[in-house]
Amino acid sequence: MSKVSLRNLCKTYAKDVPAVKGLSLDIYDGEFMVLVGPSGCGKTTTLRMIAGLESVTDGVIHIGDRSVRDVSPGDRNVSMVFQNYALFPHMTVLQNLSFGLKARKEAKTTIRSKIDTTADKLGLKELLKRRPGELSGGQRQRVALGRAMVREPDVFLLDEPLSNLDAKMRITMRREIALLQRELNATMIYVTHDQSEAMTLGDRVCIMNEGCIQQVGPPIEVYNQPANSFVASFLGNPPMNLLDGIPNTSPDQLLGVRPEKLKIGRAKESTDLELEGILDMVEETGDSRVLHLKTSYGVVTVRVHEGQFSSGMQLTCHAANTDLYHFPKT
Ligand code: ATP
Repeated sequence: MSKVSLRNLCKTYAKDVPAVKGLSLDIYDGEFMVLVGPSGCGKTTTLRMIAGLESVTDGVIHIGDRSVRDVSPGDRNVSMVFQNYALFPHMTVLQNLSFGLKARKEAKTTIRSKIDTTADKLGLKELLKRRPGELSGGQRQRVALGRAMVREPDVFLLDEPLSNLDAKMRITMRREIALLQRELNATMIYVTHDQSEAMTLGDRVCIMNEGCIQQVGPPIEVYNQPANSFVASFLGNPPMNLLDGIPNTSPDQLLGVRPEKLKIGRAKESTDLELEGILDMVEETGDSRVLHLKTSYGVVTVRVHEGQFSSGMQLTCHAANTDLYHFPKT
């Protein structure tokens, strides 16, 4: 496996559409790095530039110690897994898995042995004779992963690989990818717009917005110490409440508080945050409930684990001063 290093990477599409604006990032050997951000923030463009599928407007890409900016995609030794699987529909699973190896003119026995090992790991042994049309979404995605694995790449690039699966299968495959990455000790760069996927999968996550990196770090670090209000409001479900105009807060700052840090009842200390509002909606999540409270600072979400609540109730909630964040207004 290899490390990947991006320096001042830029991509401007025709008609001056800047998609990636000077991105610098190091992905370590054997690391699971997740690029996450809203639609259009430049995640896929970044991944495609690493793969060599998109030209680079400016900047440098190293895979291992080699600068690959002028290396063709086939010679970068990376494998990409796409959202839509990109399997050959007329070929069997076996043929799909062996296609890349045959193109590289590997010996028949080597091909068979690599496929057997991979099929075993991914539970594809019984499916080798089927065509993609005869497989479920999860099985197809496993074949796409297998096709990437048999090539034994230096780096795996995964572009929203689970988006086409239903919620249950997504969680199953998420776990499988995480275990696989650990077992292979693979360098993986994984693109998603789903913050919960990013938080559960990544050794580190790179949060992007409008072609720029907002923050890079281990999931728990970026969750607990968001660098700015964008990161604070992107991570978490529901995301952090960002309140404007709270007394004793600078007028050019937003006050942030996570829904799970707000408790029902009056504040204990004068420095704590206290909010009053009317309960607008109660969202059941099974293990807890999210209360939507209409306050004079906008709608505030509060996660509760006990208590009886109904719409229209007048409620007071509070959060300890140590659980509050201050962000400059952008
Ligand atoms: P999504 O999650 O929706 O896939 P993304 O974060 O992966 O989004 P990109 O697909 O990298 O974002 O797109 C970044 C920006 O570049 C967007 O504004 C998009 O419209 C633009 N863009 C992407 N591909 C092209 C293209 N081929 N030609 C022109 N503009 C493009």
